[in-house]
Amino acid sequence: MSSDAPDPNDPADVADGSDVADGVDASAPTADEPEENDGEVEESAKHTPSGSPPLRVEGLVKRFGGVTAVDGASFEVESGSLTGLIGPNGAGKSTTFNCITGVHEPTAGTVSFQGEDVTGLKPYQIARKGLVRTFQIARELSEMTVLENLMLAPQGQLGESAVRAVTPGLRGAVVEEETALRERAWETLEFFEIDHLAHEHAGNLSGGQRKLLEMARVLMTDPEMVLLDEPLAGVNPTLEEKLLDRIHDLRADGYTFLLVEHDMDVIMNNCERVIVMHQGSVLAEGTGDEIRNDERVIEAYLGEDL
Ligand code: ADP
Ligand code: MG
Repeated sequence: MSSDAPDPNDPADVADGSDVADGVDASAPTADEPEENDGEVEESAKHTPSGSPPLRVEGLVKRFGGVTAVDGASFEVESGSLTGLIGPNGAGKSTTFNCITGVHEPTAGTVSFQGEDVTGLKPYQIARKGLVRTFQIARELSEMTVLENLMLAPQGQLGESAVRAVTPGLRGAVVEEETALRERAWETLEFFEIDHLAHEHAGNLSGGQRKLLEMARVLMTDPEMVLLDEPLAGVNPTLEEKLLDRIHDLRADGYTFLLVEHDMDVIMNNCERVIVMHQGSVLAEGTGDEIRNDERVIEAYLGEDL
């Protein structure tokens, strides 16, 4: 990664961009939770499938010096699906995510999102198109409250422009936007059931609560598709269930998810399609049952539980 590249651990680098008017859209259809505030977070209608899959990866290669982390991976993810991406340690899953979301520039191959070639774009440019991944909460964000973390997620708000903030006539717009953003942040916190933590410093959250916060931040950017890299690592069973429930809720609402997860039961029980990577390329694809019984997959895992 070049020195001017965005910091992959800085959510601000991915959260940039999306038009805030979209981010605070209050005209979305309603659903039944969260109870108060009409809870519009999970209801913003996502685009309906347009024929082409939202994500298409073709011949993806990523080399780090002599190490070939991704070696010609090709796959597609269907619109509105919850697709699992699995593979033994070192198979190239995280590097694939980083290439898809612009954290790494691919050595070769293409990534297209909703029919548009996004190969080599910066993370914030890709995020602006609605394709995002979760990131660990960086240190500086740990010192902010949970609510502030959410307020900060959709960048490019009018209030960030000093000129606008002091220009008579534009101030009203800034205040209005801030109010709508705050409302949306609260709705998102309620959706993830972390509203009681709103004024807590992010750094004081448990591992599981941080994962919920990461998801909440991503949602504030109003994405179409979310890549989740081991979102359940270190999460207790109660929070794990909550997180999975929220993912299913969002999926039902039209969001598309690609999930990397170590726990095979989680993958098998939640993903209708599974892609298996091995040594940098795609070894198999299919339903959980097909994958579980695939000789090549069993061999790749060398006796690990499937
Ligand atoms: P997975 O997420 O499937 O466990 P990774 O994508 O993290 O696999 O890693 C794939 C391979 O690429 C591993 O051999 C890893 O050591 C190597 N790798 C990943 N990132 C880098 C990097 N920044 N520099 C050098 N090698 C890397
Ligand atoms: Mg990984």
